[in-house]
Amino acid sequence: MHRIRLLSKNLINRIAAGEVLERPSSAVKELVENSLDADSNKIDIFVRDGGKTEIKVLDNGSGMTQEDLKMSIMRHATSKFHNGIFSNINTHGFRGEALPAIGSVAKMSIFSKTDMCENGSEINVNSGNVSEIKPIAKEKGTTVIIKDIFFSTPARLKFLKSEKYENILIKKLIQKIAICNFNVDFKLHINEKLILVTTAKKHQDKMKNLKTRIVECLGLEFSENMKEFSYTSEAYKAYGYLGIPTFNHSNRSNQYIFINGRIVSDKNLNNAIRYAYSDFLAYDRHAQLILFISVPNQDVDINVHPAKSEVKFRDSTFLRKFISKSIKATLKEIGYESSSHNTRRLIKKFNPIHDLNFINSNQLEEKNPIDDKEYFARKKNTFFNKDEKVTDVVVQYPLGFAKCQLYKTYIISQTRNGFIIVDQHAAHERIVYENIKKNFYENKIKTQILLIPEIFKVDCLLIDVLNKYIVNLKRLGIVIEKFGHDSVIVREIPVILCECNIRELVSDVLEEIYENSNSEILEERINKIFSIMSCHGSIRAGREMHTEEMNNLLREMESTPFSGQCNHGRPTFIKLGLNDVEKLFGRK
Ligand code: ADP
Ligand code: MG
Repeated sequence: MHRIRLLSKNLINRIAAGEVLERPSSAVKELVENSLDADSNKIDIFVRDGGKTEIKVLDNGSGMTQEDLKMSIMRHATSKFHNGIFSNINTHGFRGEALPAIGSVAKMSIFSKTDMCENGSEINVNSGNVSEIKPIAKEKGTTVIIKDIFFSTPARLKFLKSEKYENILIKKLIQKIAICNFNVDFKLHINEKLILVTTAKKHQDKMKNLKTRIVECLGLEFSENMKEFSYTSEAYKAYGYLGIPTFNHSNRSNQYIFINGRIVSDKNLNNAIRYAYSDFLAYDRHAQLILFISVPNQDVDINVHPAKSEVKFRDSTFLRKFISKSIKATLKEIGYESSSHNTRRLIKKFNPIHDLNFINSNQLEEKNPIDDKEYFARKKNTFFNKDEKVTDVVVQYPLGFAKCQLYKTYIISQTRNGFIIVDQHAAHERIVYENIKKNFYENKIKTQILLIPEIFKVDCLLIDVLNKYIVNLKRLGIVIEKFGHDSVIVREIPVILCECNIRELVSDVLEEIYENSNSEILEERINKIFSIMSCHGSIRAGREMHTEEMNNLLREMESTPFSGQCNHGRPTFIKLGLNDVEKLFGRK
C-alpha cells in the first residue's frame, strides 16, 4: 500500500510553474508586473530566441533589501498583502508564486537595491536550488535575468512554438502593458534589436498622453481611425479609444481591455463589445479598441487566476450592460465616417509606379507638357461646374455632389477636397436600416395599405410562427394574417419598403423568426430583422440612378447615423483626397 506523503517544495513549485508559466511571455508578464508594482517608471526588457534562452527585465523601482530578496523566491511570499485585508489591491495581484515558479524551471538571477541600502544584493536560483546572497554594486532598482526557461521541464519546452511566434507574443504583450501604463517608459529589445520604445508624456490631458502612447505602440493608422470616449455610471467608468466600425480586424487581438490598470481577458466583456458593435460588423469581423474600465476594488477579484488574466466580477451583468451601453453611445457619434484604411488600400492599388514598364516611352515623350498655371485653370473648369457656388455649398455637404454613376452600382461624388466612391446598395441599406430602427423604437413606422393585398403560400411551420408574432410584426409595420390553412395575406407594409418584393421580404422575416424563436435576446433578433427588411428595401446594385436621386442619397447619408458602413461592417464609401490624387500623378 502507498502511504500519503507531502510533495517536495521543488515539485510544488514546478506544479505551480505549470499554471503560472505557460510560455516565455508569461514569465515576461510576471516580471514586468513586479516592476510596475515596485513603482518603476522605466522598464527595459530584453529577450533572446523568443525568450527561450534569455529574458532580462531591468527596472528603476523601489528594489529589495537582502532580506526581501531572500523571501521573494519563497513560495507564497509577497509584500502585497497586509494585515489580512486586501490592502494593496492596486497591485498586479499577490499570489507570491511567480519568482519561485520561474526559479524552479530556469536559471534565474536577481539583482536588486533599495534607496536605503548602500549595497545591492544578488541571488541565484538554478532549477529550484538557491545560492548564497552576494553583495554587489548597483543602482536603485531590480534586474531579473532568466536563462533557459523550461530546460528542466522538457515536456513544456516541446510545446513552445517557433521563435518568431513567441517573439510576436512578447511584443504584443509589451504593447499591451505599455498602452495600459502610459506613464512609464518602456524599451523592448528582441535579439539585440530595439523593437519598441515608448516615452511617457507629461501632458495635463491624460487622454492626449494615452493617444501618443497608442501611436508609439500601434502606429498612426490605428489612432487615426479611433474615437475618444468616456462614460461614467455610478462608481463605474469606461474610457479610451474605439475603432470606427469599418476599421475592423479578423480576430480579437486588437482589443486592448484593462480593468483597474490590469490586462484582462474576459468573455463577458468580449460579449459586451460584440453586442455593442453587432449592428455594424459581420460575425467574423472584430472591433479594434482600447478600453479602460475602472470599477470599485471591492467589485472585482483579480486573484482568481494563476496567470491573473481572468478576473471575477461581483455583478457581471451590470458591467456587461454598462460597457455595451457606453460603446453604443459613442458609436452613435461616429456618423458617416469611413476608415482611412480603405483609402490607403485604394491608393496602393492606384499607385502607377508598377505599371510604368507597360507604357511606351515614345508615348511619354509625345505628351505635350502644360505648365501648372494652365493645369489649375483647366482643373477648375472641369472639376467644378461653373454654375455651382462651389465653396459654400460643398462645405455644407461633406459628401459632395454626384458626378456620375459607374456600372449602375457606384456613385462618384466630388467633394471639397477630393472625391468619393459610394456603393449605392450598401449606403442605402444603412439608411433604410437606421430609419426602420428609429421609427420602430419611437412607434412611428409609417405603413402603406396595399391596394391589392398580397396572398401567398408559406410553409406550415412558418404559419405557427406567424400566429405567435402577429402583434410584433404589426409593430414592424407588416400587417399580415393567416389565410386559409397554408397561406398568408399581407395588407400593409412600411412605406419605406413599398418598392420591394413583398413575398420575399415576408418569407425571409418569418424564416428568421422561426430559426431563432428560442433565442432569449430579443434585441439582437430584432436587429437582424431590421437588417433583412433594409436589405429588401434598398436600392439594388445594378439600378440606374438620376443625378438628383444620387444627390438625395448623399444628403441622407450625411444625416444618418453610422452611414459610413453597412450592416456588415463593410464601408459604404471610400474617399480619395485631391492631395492623394495629385501625389499619384507626381504633382506633389
Ligand atoms: P507577488 O508579485 O505575487 O507578490 P512574486 O513571486 O511575483 O509574487 O514576487 C514576490 C515578491 O518579490 C513581491 O511581492 C515583491 O515584494 C518582490 N519583488 C519581485 N519583483 C520585484 C521588483 N522588480 N522590484 C521590487 N520588488 C520585487
Ligand atoms: Mg508578481
